[in-house]
Amino acid sequence: MTRMTRSEPKEASQLSLTPAWGAEVAVVDSRALSAQTVLEETIALYGIRNWGSEYFRVNGSGEVVCAFPASQPAHTPLKDLVTQLGDRGIATPVVLRFPQIIQHQLNVLAGAFESAIKEFGYHKDYIPAYPIKVNQKKEVVRDVLRFGDPYQVGLEVGSKAELAVALALTDNRHSPIICNGVKDAGYIKLALIGTQIGKRVFIVVESIFELHALLACSQRFGIRPRIGLRLKLSARGSGKWEKSSGDLSKFGFTTTDLLKGIHFLREADMLDCLNLLHFHIGSQVTEIRRVKYAVKEAARTYAKLRQLCPQLTALDVGGGLGVDYDGSRTASESSVNYSVQEYANDIIYSIKEVCESEGVEEPTVLTETGRMIAAPHAMLVFNSVDEIGLSNGPVWVDDYESRPEVIQEMYDIYTGTNAKNYREYYHDILEQREEMFSLFNLGYLSLEDRGLGQELFWGTCERALKFAKAVKHMPEEFEDLEQRLAHKFICNFSVFQSIPDSWALEQLFPIMPIHRLNEIPERKGYLADLTCDSDGKVDNFIDLRDIKEYLELHALNGEPYYLGVFFTGAYQDVMGDYHNLFGHVHDVSVVIDENGTAQITEIIPGHTVEGVLHIFRYEREELLAAFRTRICEGAEQTGVPAEEEEDLLREYEAVLGSYTYLTPEKDGG
Ligand SMILES: *Cc1c(COP(=O)(O)O)cnc(C)c1O
Repeated sequence: MTRMTRSEPKEASQLSLTPAWGAEVAVVDSRALSAQTVLEETIALYGIRNWGSEYFRVNGSGEVVCAFPASQPAHTPLKDLVTQLGDRGIATPVVLRFPQIIQHQLNVLAGAFESAIKEFGYHKDYIPAYPIKVNQKKEVVRDVLRFGDPYQVGLEVGSKAELAVALALTDNRHSPIICNGVKDAGYIKLALIGTQIGKRVFIVVESIFELHALLACSQRFGIRPRIGLRLKLSARGSGKWEKSSGDLSKFGFTTTDLLKGIHFLREADMLDCLNLLHFHIGSQVTEIRRVKYAVKEAARTYAKLRQLCPQLTALDVGGGLGVDYDGSRTASESSVNYSVQEYANDIIYSIKEVCESEGVEEPTVLTETGRMIAAPHAMLVFNSVDEIGLSNGPVWVDDYESRPEVIQEMYDIYTGTNAKNYREYYHDILEQREEMFSLFNLGYLSLEDRGLGQELFWGTCERALKFAKAVKHMPEEFEDLEQRLAHKFICNFSVFQSIPDSWALEQLFPIMPIHRLNEIPERKGYLADLTCDSDGKVDNFIDLRDIKEYLELHALNGEPYYLGVFFTGAYQDVMGDYHNLFGHVHDVSVVIDENGTAQITEIIPGHTVEGVLHIFRYEREELLAAFRTRICEGAEQTGVPAEEEEDLLREYEAVLGSYTYLTPEKDGG
């Protein structure tokens, strides 16, 4: 192999400073990017126009702003909100909650059904019910009831605890309360009490066994319930929950059970109590045709039963209306291939068609849409505190002449890699690295030289990759290099507390920096959280056509760097756990007022250290007393003077009172 003689060190810097920003952009790069072009490129890169256009946008200064309500021209940067909160002692990580988004989502949902009803001349109403399990937080349930009041929004519950909330909070007499889930006598009794006090409670039974329990209970108390039956359809959902629907689903009546159920109801003289049929084909249904199949099957069952049960007047089509997390509008798991209007049209039209053909009255239609109502209204903001990469910019070699031959050789490869030879040089550096390791293991290389060798290796990989990406078809051997060269961004949050589905289901969320979008994001990175768990990371990101294993990010510059995870309002907030004792994060409600100014309307502080310890029955006083004893014991051995013991206790106490996440040090602190 002939290689050019070694280059002077200063060339290294000239060669390595071009950003690793991808081939397409490298071309643009040479034309010297204008500020506007950079902005356009970054906006396109994170796809915010596809997934966020209704609610979030990027302003001319490269900051993500709230773009709602639609009538408001002024837009508040999210970064300003974070700074304001910081001034009030509320540091990141923080959940930002936007009640106006819940309102808008409800309007969109109810509006879509309203226009479908009008368009197809449907004769009955539509009523949405919000499934509490999607986000049980008091603020969220309260907002749903408040903004859904014009639509008589109801609540769907799946347990005694959820029913207790629903009975106490709903004050609209027409609002339905739909009781799903496995029920014991206490659950059934509380639901019957709901009926007794005049609420519109539907007790949806999921099996013959439960039907018997309900009939017995209602006869004992002399209360006639509104009964719903959950159907086990043969139609299946699509997406992640496909397997738990259809014939294999955990819940519901088969046709045989249904006929038995009717028989028992008739025997008990309670056939007129059967008011509702219910089904649910799973969450985040990605394909509209699955919804159509299920609705047709359920509507047909309704129509047949309706001829036997004149009081059967409602059909509840469950949840499953999906959210387009990646903005691709496809049937991929993080997206949906239909609009809300299309969803409503297909449901209303299908039911109408079946009822007409069977000559029966149409039912009132209920939905249990949860994800669509709640997901977009909340987001998590956190800061990144450190960045760790295998390749860290230009490598310098002093004393070239006195270095071992292998290091000189590696340096020559590093400086000599270019568009023509990058493949060959990449192979060479792989070989030299093996050589370097053997020499080190035999004791011929110093630690310093080994360190230098490593840097030269990764530096060469980075340069070779850049050239490989510039060609039309990147050679296969370079594909996993990209992943290996990605930087690890250490981020101030816990995946397990704040985005559990990212870990448990590999669900994708839109994630992007909320500022600095007028700068080229030179790094490719993945996110590592604070937990000491190798699963505590995010390394799958949305992309229009694919899933990315890294996210384009900005090099940390000493200033706080904030990232947002969007659409975390459904299922994330409330399913998190306390891995490594990281607690709830601060929860802040924000309303955009009529001047377009964002107002912080409510701050619910996250857990302090003692707050999260309390959950596990470690009590503050007990811990302080025990730590005081430990100080005394220790002082005997180490000779800490008695007057300093109090200070040590104060320090311990201060930590008990602090946020469980990383917090900026107070001035002088
Ligand atoms: C979870 C659940 C829902 C909510 O589904 P989304 O996908 O959030 O709309 C509705 N109904 C039942 C029975 C559920 O279990």
